[in-house]
Amino acid sequence: MNWVHDVEFIQCLYIIAFALFIYGLMGLTGPRTAVRGNKIAAVGMALAVIATLLLPGMGNWWLIVLGVVIGTVVGVPAARNVKMTAMPQMVALFNGVGGGAVALIAWVEFRHSNGFDGEPAYVAIASLFAAIIGSVSFWGSNVAFAKLQELISGRPVSIGKLQQPLNLLLLLVAVGCSVAIVAGSSSEILIILVLVAAAVLGFTVVLPIGGADMPVVISLLNAFTGLSAAATGIALNNTALIVAGMIVGASGSILTNLMAKAMNRSIPAIVAGGFGGTVTASAGAVEGGTVRSTSAADAAVQLAYASQVIVVPGYGMAVAQAQHAVREMAELLEEKGISVYYAIHPVAGRMPGHMNVLLAEADVPYDQLKEMDEINGEFSRTDVTLVIGANDVTNPAARTDPGSPIFGMPILNVDESRSIIVLKRGMSSGFAGVDNALFFDPKTSMLFGDAKASVGTVIEELKAL
Ligand code: NDP
Repeated sequence: MNWVHDVEFIQCLYIIAFALFIYGLMGLTGPRTAVRGNKIAAVGMALAVIATLLLPGMGNWWLIVLGVVIGTVVGVPAARNVKMTAMPQMVALFNGVGGGAVALIAWVEFRHSNGFDGEPAYVAIASLFAAIIGSVSFWGSNVAFAKLQELISGRPVSIGKLQQPLNLLLLLVAVGCSVAIVAGSSSEILIILVLVAAAVLGFTVVLPIGGADMPVVISLLNAFTGLSAAATGIALNNTALIVAGMIVGASGSILTNLMAKAMNRSIPAIVAGGFGGTVTASAGAVEGGTVRSTSAADAAVQLAYASQVIVVPGYGMAVAQAQHAVREMAELLEEKGISVYYAIHPVAGRMPGHMNVLLAEADVPYDQLKEMDEINGEFSRTDVTLVIGANDVTNPAARTDPGSPIFGMPILNVDESRSIIVLKRGMSSGFAGVDNALFFDPKTSMLFGDAKASVGTVIEELKAL
């Protein structure tokens, strides 16, 4: 059985694992193939782990088994039981753990080699890069988790003008200590300082970021973890880590770019920590407006006499799990000869593609799903826009109020439609924590209640017409 420990055999297993990663990733490009793609990539990862365990020199089997058992006992129930709406914080947490592992590996390698003594410079540089980025990613992801889980306020927490100089100082401490290590110092206090400065940097970069910008920061931290894992792969001369890390780093960077474009933010501003804005006292506040509430019966009549209806789904639709009822209602309207489209905002819900996944699960035809740029011109030609549990992605303050934390974010131009019906439970704000002037627009009427229950009643009323 010695051949299983043969390096060439192990490299072959790695190559098969990489092919499975890439094939699996291709499946993730569409909701229909995503589950299969995920399973294929998971088989690839299992193969890469087995191949790594077969590497010559592996030992401490009890520790390895203990690690696998703890990971399984914590990870499997957590992933199985997580609600779809809590997926972003789950992603933030799992992603952060990857960054933390990488930072710890750098520390262990430092100790093993007595401060990278006798190692080529590239090993020390790659390890220290991994230590800094991994530590930023771990602590930053924990802050993102705490914000999304509402353990701490989602509002920006900043020390104002001193924020960026402080971030720069922390970065200089981490880089300065790293340079000293590469130059030959083997004092352990230096690597501890690197890890601590990067940890504080993780906090100070993510804390000032406001609610509406969290999708970009999660994606950015994800890319950071990938890059730090790839750097560890270079230091340890492990191809699996290099390839897997680069795939995560590259796809995370592409996603960050797409999300930043969707939010109208620049990536250099993200990296400098200078985005997210601060909420001014008056930001988004709507004064003196009146809200008109409506009934399911009136909403049904309005819908039945429309010739075009646009459905704007948001986080509340996911919470209410109303997607099946929404599809049923849309089918009833189509039977009456009414055109129905779904307007998909890139950051609606709590994760990229959230609305697409929910609507695909409810078998909504793909050609009815319209991206923001495609649908925005249609609102002015639309008789009724039905906003189902969406809030921030429809807020006109993003266009008009420079003091608003969502100012500059492209939104769905719902306010241009002839009439608007908003389904939500009360007047609570959305994730960004700001009021929405759309709800006070004279063309808007509010159908208060849980979205699934409200859509169900509208369906009954439509059937009765
Ligand atoms: P919002 O978070 O702005 O608003 C959701 C609304 O849904 C709330 O105002 C709430 O009002 C309502 N709601 C909640 N539960 C129900 C229910 N059971 N029935 C009916 N309504 C309900 O959602 P959007 O989708 O408009 O915007 C997404 C926000 O999340 C953006 O700010 C985005 O930046 C952020 N975000 C997005 C991520 C992504 O990757 N997509 C990740 C992280 C954050 P009420 O309580 O009154 O019912």
